[in-house]
Amino acid sequence: MHCPFCKANDTKVIDSRLVGEGEQVRRRRECLSCKERFTTFETAELLMPRVVKQDGTRQPFDEDKLNRGFSRALEKRPVSIEAIDKAIHNIKYRLRATGEREITSLLIGEEVMRELRKLDDVAYVRFASVYRSFQDINEFKEEVERLSREVAADEASAEGSRNKDTD
Ligand SMILES: [Zn+2]
Repeated sequence: MHCPFCKANDTKVIDSRLVGEGEQVRRRRECLSCKERFTTFETAELLMPRVVKQDGTRQPFDEDKLNRGFSRALEKRPVSIEAIDKAIHNIKYRLRATGEREITSLLIGEEVMRELRKLDDVAYVRFASVYRSFQDINEFKEEVERLSREVAADEASAEGSRNKDTD
């Protein structure tokens, strides 16, 4: 590791600790020539599969894009950044766990829906409406109907318990 100040080759590690969930190592280093200190972060390189788009083109996996998708769907929704990070982490984990070198963009979309569904129903429907509109409008309608039935059922049971209270 070159010193970023004087470019000397010899630097020594003076402190080393795990960051986050242990996926990263943060190291404090000191340059043996100029004595300046600096920090480095090391992350194991776990390769993500490449993404095959619907038109057949291949692209590298793009975490920023995934992040933007979540942010758009979750705009003004009561979901923390930590929860979003966790969702993205889950998706990356499962995509890697497929062991495939290439995955379809469709699969990523399904994974996003799966995570959004756990986080927030409104965001889930928002994402699904954009994502599914080009694929299967009927499936999307069924999903919205399923959700509204669930909401109606929740309201009915809440209504039922309120009635019981007042009786
Ligand atoms: Zn130096």
